[in-house]
Amino acid sequence: MNEQFYLPLAYLNAWEYCPRRFFLEYELGENADNEHLILGRHLHRNVDDEGKNIEGDKVIYRSQWVWCDRLLINGVIDAVEEIDDQLIPVEFKKGRMANHENDHFQVCGAALCLEERTGVSIAYGEIFYYANRRRQRVDFTPELRQATEQAIQAARTAIGKAMPPPIDHPKKCQDCSLQKICLPKEIKQLRLEV
Ligand code: SF4
Repeated sequence: MNEQFYLPLAYLNAWEYCPRRFFLEYELGENADNEHLILGRHLHRNVDDEGKNIEGDKVIYRSQWVWCDRLLINGVIDAVEEIDDQLIPVEFKKGRMANHENDHFQVCGAALCLEERTGVSIAYGEIFYYANRRRQRVDFTPELRQATEQAIQAARTAIGKAMPPPIDHPKKCQDCSLQKICLPKEIKQLRLEV
């Protein structure tokens, strides 16, 4: 394996959601739509074009490509807001606001990239959840930074290894677009029979 490859931030999100999903997407190139993904793409259409808006004292840079050479990660941040020289990475998500750790890792990974590119420390980011139109502030605490870096290393280490088993999380599996490829219930049933 080439140690210099850059792990995309979207795959960091997939890893934290479910290592098996990460394996299916990253290693096997599996891809499938469900209603959540289609709706997500539709809602995302306004932030997918790179550009710049000014709203009052805030400058918004949409769809920004970033990377971090230290952690070997890269990706596109939906938006970076600049207020009083403070940069705030912002991700837009289709679902409802909750403590989605995978989303927190993704926005924290984006901040780590931005910090390396600009040399400026970033205190927090935000995630906008379309389903209930709420913005969640995510503080980049030392604990979140450490957990994000550990997840990046864990995902990189898992590449090239065996496919992980399905997770025991029916709600995540129900929402997962890869369910018909992964077959979590069937795999679990087979394992019980074996
Ligand atoms: S269906 Fe469940 S176990 Fe399978 S990839 Fe999706 S979240 Fe993971």
